[in-house]
Amino acid sequence: MAALEILTAPDPRLHLKALPVEKVDRSIRKLMDDLLDTLYHKNGLGLAAIQAGIQKRVIAIDLGEREGITYKPFFMANPEIQWISSMTQKTTEGCLSLPNHFANVIRPFEIKVSYLDENNQKQALSAKGLLADCIQHEIDHLNGTLFIDHLSSLKRNLILSKLRKEKKHKGGL
Ligand SMILES: [Zn+2]
Repeated sequence: MAALEILTAPDPRLHLKALPVEKVDRSIRKLMDDLLDTLYHKNGLGLAAIQAGIQKRVIAIDLGEREGITYKPFFMANPEIQWISSMTQKTTEGCLSLPNHFANVIRPFEIKVSYLDENNQKQALSAKGLLADCIQHEIDHLNGTLFIDHLSSLKRNLILSKLRKEKKHKGGL
């Protein structure tokens, strides 16, 4: 396993639409392992391959321990949301591609999603709460959407201008 470099906004590669994988083979499984390794390394909850500049519909999620529930890490290739609840939730989201920026995002509270697991098996999952939020955030990445794209343009531009300044500062060192 190897930790991957993560792209940070603003970066046009984060807005590319990731392409479906034909089959979860050894190379995709290695990518899944690398994503999980990177996730642990960066202390995140979820990571999409596109955040490492790899244009494939693959994500890794591990919520760890939250509110007394221990979640297991899992992988999704070609995830597709099949159903969303009309009930919504507001969650404070962050993103490894928008380091140190957080904002409230409103999304459906519950979803049903189909995907291929690490053994190339079709799976269906019902998720709610934080897990549903995290899966939707990662699937957004596969479609070139960041959580700030759900905010007003005022809030989005404020975060982007801060990130631009931070990047400039880093580049100047
Ligand atoms: Zn993210």
